Amino acid sequence: MLIPCPHCGLRPSEEFVPKGLAEAPRPALGGRAKPDGPAWQNYLHLRDNVADHSHEYFHHALGCRSWIVVHRHTLTHEVTGATMAADFWKADKPAKGAKDAKSPTAETAEDGQ
Ligand SMILES: [Zn+2]
Repeated sequence: MLIPCPHCGLRPSEEFVPKGLAEAPRPALGGRAKPDGPAWQNYLHLRDNVADHSHEYFHHALGCRSWIVVHRHTLTHEVTGATMAADFWKADKPAKGAKDAKSPTAETAEDGQ
């Protein structure tokens, strides 16, 4: 499987470390910067496991060391694009389950830029 790193272009998946879904917002920390128990437990352990398009964090550990969000179908492993993680939360995200191969970021990544 090839992953289109927005910085490096198409790279083999072996260079990346998957780090989980990028769709669940991280819960706020509790008092004195400790995680709030139940909200944190749900964030860590209760995730949907759907066969559909998803957004997942990957760390380009053997490349530019960037954190990216890869848009991938969980059933077919088809990768339709990738976004720098910092930009993912700034931009309007496609609706859950929507194929986003036409996003400007995905096109940039496919060009190898
Ligand atoms: Zn990279």
